Amino acid sequence: MQDLNKLWKIFKDKFTDTGLAKGAFSAPGRVNLIGEHTDYNDGFVLPMAIEKEIVMLGQSRNDRLVQVYDLVYKTKIEFSLDNLIPLKKDTWANYLMGVMDEMQKAGYSLQGANLIFISNIPKGAGLSSSAALEVVTALTMAKLNLLEIEPVEMAHLCRRAENNFVGVACGIMDQYVSCLGQKKYALFIDCRSNDYELIPFKNHDYQIVICNSKIQRGLINSEYNKRREQCKKATEFFAHKLGHKIQALRDITIDEYKKYQAQLPEIIARRARHVISENYRVQAGIQALREENYSAFGQLMIESHQSLKDDYEVSCTELDLLVDLALKQEGVLGARMTGAGFGGCTVNLIEKNYISAFKKSIINEYKKITGIIPDIYVTPPVEGAKVLELR
Ligand code: ADP
Ligand code: MG
Repeated sequence: MQDLNKLWKIFKDKFTDTGLAKGAFSAPGRVNLIGEHTDYNDGFVLPMAIEKEIVMLGQSRNDRLVQVYDLVYKTKIEFSLDNLIPLKKDTWANYLMGVMDEMQKAGYSLQGANLIFISNIPKGAGLSSSAALEVVTALTMAKLNLLEIEPVEMAHLCRRAENNFVGVACGIMDQYVSCLGQKKYALFIDCRSNDYELIPFKNHDYQIVICNSKIQRGLINSEYNKRREQCKKATEFFAHKLGHKIQALRDITIDEYKKYQAQLPEIIARRARHVISENYRVQAGIQALREENYSAFGQLMIESHQSLKDDYEVSCTELDLLVDLALKQEGVLGARMTGAGFGGCTVNLIEKNYISAFKKSIINEYKKITGIIPDIYVTPPVEGAKVLELR
C-alpha cells in the first residue's frame, strides 16, 4: 500500500490545483492459478487479483488536456482528449489514451485531467501490469467525471482499449480480474460466455507464492500465433469428425480426444491434449478449492506445468528450474509456470509455515544455477479496482 499523503505532496509539486474534483484510485495485477492457453480456445481460466497494484491520483481540469506523470519511470506526457491517436514513442501512454478513447466512444463525456501514478507490478512479467494500468485509468476518469460504470462494463472497455488502441489481441481475463477480484476469492471465468464466478480461497494455512524468473518473455508473439494456428487446425479436424457443434477445443471431451487423436499429426495432437486436459484441470481445481482440498489443487498445478512443458511447449529452462526447485521444498503442494510462457513467473501453493524457508532456498539455488536473483511475492487474493480517497 502506498503512502497517499506523500503522493499528494508529489501531485501538488507537479500541478497547480484546478479546484475541481480529485481522488486516489488503485487497480491490482493478477496471477493465473490454473487454465493456461485456454482463453483463446473458448475455455476456462482461474486467476486471482494480487497484492501488487497501480495507484493513480487525479484531478479534473476545465479543458480537454490530459497530463500524466509516471512516478516509476519519471516520464511525463500530455495529450488532448480531442486527438487520441496511438503513439510510436512513449507507448505506455497508449494504455491510458486507449481507455479514454473507448470511454468516449461508449458515449461517456470526459473532461481533461492531471494524473500521476505509481506501480509495484513488474512490467511484462505476466502479472498483468497492462490491465492494471487500463483499469486504474478507467476508474480514475469515471470517478473524476462523476460517471457510474459497472465493473463488468469497465473490464470490457479496458479490453477494447488493449485490443484496438494498443494492438494486443488479449482476452478478457486480465481486465475482469483486475475489476472483479475479491478478497479471499479466485475468479473462475468462462471465456466463451464471459460468465464468471467467485471461488473461495480462504484457508489461511496455504498461500500463493509467485516467483519471478526475471527472464523477459522472448519468442512470445511468433510462438503464440503458431499455437493459435495449431489449435485451429485441431478444431477443424474434430469438427470434421464430430460435426459443427465443435467450434473450439473447449467442445471436445477427453474421451473424444482419445478416440481420434491417433489420426492427428503428432504435434497437433499434443497441442490439443494440453488445451482439452487443462480445461478439465480448471474444473477439477474449482471443485478442489470448494472442498478445501488444497493438495488436490496443488497436484493439478503440477500436472498443468507438465502439460505446458511437454505438450504445449511454452515453458523455458528457467521456469522449469523454478518449478523443479519448488517441488523439492517442504510444504509445497503445487508449482507451475503462469502466463503465456517463455519467461515471466511461476505460481506456487505453499503451506504457510514453510514460506520463509522456501524463499531462502529458491533464491540461493536459482541464483547458483542461473546467476539471477529471482523476485518472490507472497500474496492472498485481494479485491479489484477501488477508490482509495475522494477529495
Ligand atoms: P504484463 O501485462 O504481463 O505486465 P504487457 O506486455 O501486457 O505485460 O504490458 C506491459 C506494458 O504495460 C509495458 O510495456 C508498459 O507499456 C505498460 N506499463 C505497465 N506498467 C507501467 C508503468 N508503471 N509505467 C508505464 N507503463 C507501464
Ligand atoms: Mg498484459
